[in-house]
Amino acid sequence: MIQVKGYAAQSNTTELTPIVFQRNEPQEDEVLVDILYCGICHADIHQAKNEYGNTIYPFVPGHEIIGRVNSIGNKVKKYKIGDTVGIGYFIDSCGYCSNCLEHEEQFCDNGITPTQNGKLANGQTTKGGYSNCIVVKEDYLLHIPESLNSPGTAPLLCAGITTYSALVHNAVKKGDKVAILGLGGLGHMTVKFAVSFGAEVSVLSTSPLKADSALALGAHHFIDTTDEKQVSQVFSSFDFIIDTVSAKHDYNTYLKLLKKDGTLVLLGVPVETTPLVTGLLTSRRRKIVGSFIGGIQQTQEMINYCATHQIQADVEVISPSYINTAFERMLKNDVKYRFVLDMQAME
Ligand code: NAP
Repeated sequence: MIQVKGYAAQSNTTELTPIVFQRNEPQEDEVLVDILYCGICHADIHQAKNEYGNTIYPFVPGHEIIGRVNSIGNKVKKYKIGDTVGIGYFIDSCGYCSNCLEHEEQFCDNGITPTQNGKLANGQTTKGGYSNCIVVKEDYLLHIPESLNSPGTAPLLCAGITTYSALVHNAVKKGDKVAILGLGGLGHMTVKFAVSFGAEVSVLSTSPLKADSALALGAHHFIDTTDEKQVSQVFSSFDFIIDTVSAKHDYNTYLKLLKKDGTLVLLGVPVETTPLVTGLLTSRRRKIVGSFIGGIQQTQEMINYCATHQIQADVEVISPSYINTAFERMLKNDVKYRFVLDMQAME
């Protein structure tokens, strides 16, 4: 067994504290990865606080992982010691259902094994990247090109693939009018991808102080959603709204901003939702769809796209002892735009 140091929530009301736990030695098709960086996704906060009612404690979050290969099992072919690799939201799937065969393992009919709070075949609970190493099957690792070897790459493994996949699947293209609702970790990656796809991008935000940095990210317009006048000026304007909001909010307010045939793409997973006024869909043939991370193949495609187009997340690198303050600041929308833990700085 491998002794691992990390940070864990012990209950839904307590702060994360240091923990020592064990991981299994790598099997023949597995890789032991020393973790360099791990992004903090809002999903980590939802789960640490048991907002979905399924958290198993002690809970070690972290699914935006960049690391270096420490050792490999004797059947590993695609990675060698010293390679920089990424690990995202899941570390296993059945591999034979129709969704896995279509390279959309995130929708595995037999259930993915999430990197955090999942179940391994031996009954152990998976523990994520707020730790100094992890063991993963080679098929669930991503190659990280040298040009992306930095903390800003870690958020690509969840915020990046989630937003890239949603835009690609919905065929967002040059000239489309795309609004991004919520400018946090996912939101700012959506701005970067949508701009690079040639869309006309608006940010819809509750934080007027983010206006300048939204434009610096490449957005063409900024709308303060706390100002009714600004919102009314964009009624029936957008082909797409990509909703990345983590908290309860009224979908009806934003449906009105879609053109005929426009699509609201839900990425955020608030615990509570508001009732839907279905007339807002029928009156303009509008649609609401969802999207969930992306498959391994598409995640590699997204990483390669980011290497080609020089896209990374805007990050604030922090030491693991700052985790609880980072959680509090995220709940106050106070991060531009992703915290990334420097796991090598763990004492
Ligand atoms: P985040 O960095 O905390 O950003 C969320 C943003 O939502 C905030 O920056 C804020 O933007 C906006 N917001 C917060 N409270 C709001 C409220 N009461 N009303 C309106 N807007 C509010 O979170 P994240 O890491 O980007 O994650 C966002 C959501 O996506 C979470 O629910 C997470 O679990 C989910 N998620 C889903 C997937 C998927 O596959 N579908 C993957 C990863 C994460 P402004 O300050 O601009 O208003």
